[in-house]
Amino acid sequence: MDDNDTTPFLQQPLCKLKGVGNSLAEKLERLGLTVAGDLLFHLPLRYQDRTRIHSLGELDPGQEVLTEGFIDTTEVVLRARRMLLCHLSDGSGTLSLRFFHFTNGQRNAMRSGARLRCFGEVRQAGYRLEMVHPEYRIITAGDEVLVDNTLTPTYPSTEGLQQRPLRRLIELALAQVETLPELLPEPTLASLGFLPLADSIRLLHHPPPELANQALLEGRHPAQLRLAFEELVAHQLGVQQARQQLRQVAAPAMTAPNTHFEALLQQLPFAPTAAQTRVIAEITRDLHQPHPMNRLVQGDVGSGKTLVAVAAALHVIANGWQVAFMAPTELLAEQHYRNLSHWLEPLGLEVVFISGGQTPKQRRRKVENLLLGIGHIAVGTHALFQKSVEFLQLGLIIIDEQHRFGVYQRLALREKGRQGEHYPHQLVMTATPIPRTMAMTTYGDLDYSVIDELPPGRTPIRTVAINNERRDEVIGRIERACAEGRQVYWVCTLIEESEVLQCQAAELSAALLTERLPGVTVGLVHGRLHGSEKERVMQAFSSGDTQLLVATTVIEVGVDVPNASLMVIENAERLGLSQLHQLRGRVGRGTTASSCVLLYQAPLGRTARKRLDALRQSTDGFEIANIDLELRGPGEVLGTRQTGDVRLRVASILRDQHLLPAVQETARTIVEHYPERIPQLIRRWLQQPGNETATRFFQS
Ligand code: ADP
Ligand code: MG
Repeated sequence: MDDNDTTPFLQQPLCKLKGVGNSLAEKLERLGLTVAGDLLFHLPLRYQDRTRIHSLGELDPGQEVLTEGFIDTTEVVLRARRMLLCHLSDGSGTLSLRFFHFTNGQRNAMRSGARLRCFGEVRQAGYRLEMVHPEYRIITAGDEVLVDNTLTPTYPSTEGLQQRPLRRLIELALAQVETLPELLPEPTLASLGFLPLADSIRLLHHPPPELANQALLEGRHPAQLRLAFEELVAHQLGVQQARQQLRQVAAPAMTAPNTHFEALLQQLPFAPTAAQTRVIAEITRDLHQPHPMNRLVQGDVGSGKTLVAVAAALHVIANGWQVAFMAPTELLAEQHYRNLSHWLEPLGLEVVFISGGQTPKQRRRKVENLLLGIGHIAVGTHALFQKSVEFLQLGLIIIDEQHRFGVYQRLALREKGRQGEHYPHQLVMTATPIPRTMAMTTYGDLDYSVIDELPPGRTPIRTVAINNERRDEVIGRIERACAEGRQVYWVCTLIEESEVLQCQAAELSAALLTERLPGVTVGLVHGRLHGSEKERVMQAFSSGDTQLLVATTVIEVGVDVPNASLMVIENAERLGLSQLHQLRGRVGRGTTASSCVLLYQAPLGRTARKRLDALRQSTDGFEIANIDLELRGPGEVLGTRQTGDVRLRVASILRDQHLLPAVQETARTIVEHYPERIPQLIRRWLQQPGNETATRFFQS
């Protein structure tokens, strides 16, 4: 830091801090962190309790704990993969450590008789307990037996960024937390009895151990409520401003008839459902207006949102404008590209695929076509909105599976598609139902349509929950399904935020299943495969060449392979209800009866059991969303991804809905009496990954 620099510490750009080079600054920026003060609001995803050493005898599967023991033996074994096993005991019990990646140095240090302390998640492996890739340390004589005295925060991170540097920087910022201004009106703070901002922030970064597993982990501690409240106020203000600004701008009115869609309907093997037809009419009305459409279409998994989106796209194309169709994942973008090409090319329309993985050379022709207006519709991920991609005249932006995009990312896209006075129309699609109480804060800037009917002829999905110990039966079932010509998904889950570990888990399952099912062709797809590799794997599965697809939750949204009629979800107890419902929606798309097996690790907690029961009993998205709401009471772990929530830092619109009336009231007070605080609140809370433009948007 420059000695003469008088900028307050919390406003210093992160790259000016000691030890923050370009590469670190870049990673921090990916997390939405640009100035030191942002670090304070980068709150832990969860906490680890390293304040106590558990004896081996008290370990239970599923716990994440600090423990230690003496090494009995260490061995390198060759199963499906080479691995290092280290067996510990302490008189009260035993534990094995399993490493897939290790050095000779590590192996040699794990000598019999040595004392080893480790931290990790306990898993059941056959009859024994184990930890896979724990953090560990060999304790030598004279080593102090120190444990932490506060809970250890685990922060949301990004590839290549370890917790340690993140924690170090956050400590620096915490030393200055007192200089942070209060932005909520004083009367509000007093009347709601909130803790001071600085105290709340300090406590959340360093909670004392007695808070473990209580209100804190459920997101209900007063310090969390204090911050959640402020965040929701900021969000409410942002959404209101967005809506106001959009009412004042122009869009091309598209009044020519949708001749392309009429032509498509001639070719389709099915007719649209009544609900699809109604929603298409609502969209068409919007497109006739000289102001930007801003509509959200909600429809349960499998309700046929793609056809509705295609109808909108064809209307716009028939009026001489272009369309950008954006999907949240590369996988889904590729699938949309295949489907759209199949539907639109016979109509003489050009579908262009833009992918993050394309080289500039591969992309050049495609981009040229868009700029010349030869390409009618571009399909891709957010890569569609890079600078190098330009349209001749973009009339409509379609965003599929909305829950992955925030309000401000949406606004940024619209800004990008602006042509002179004209803004493009926007259509957003989601499978997540939105209860009325929340709609105002969550999607306050959007109009709303619902596809409340599934296409006819679907056979209901039968869902069963099976204890992991009966995994062999499940594998037998897969074998039979494949022998009958059906296809199967095997989904691996981990709560770990690390994508690397997720992929390792999937690799391991794929290897084991390949070994167990010699007659079955197995594919593997996860987030770390390259675009072209992913496409190859998915193509092989959708053409039927691959019978069993092992996947991480990357296949959660959108993937549509009607012949797949069995899904196995490993560790189903770890996922939220809505996420499980989304996943399960990958089967039950064809005419054969489908089933979904929820493999769980016993013992099941009360809420987990209720979640699995709810899934067994219902396949209706609305009903499941309601049960989800009820179950998100106490017991919900902090940081579980909440499908359907806007990406918020502390608040959960679901969990904190009781705050919403006061939030809306406070937003009104601020607009009336403290308008100068609006940009500050928005800056503090809404600068998130991909939201860089939010601040700019509101300042312009
Ligand atoms: P989602 O709403 O989950 O995005 P999709 O658009 O992927 O659903 O549609 C699911 C499946 O239903 C697709 O195979 C699609 O072709 C088919 N489908 C869509 N509309 C109808 C309809 N009206 N009748 C029969 N099948 C339909
Ligand atoms: Mg879809």
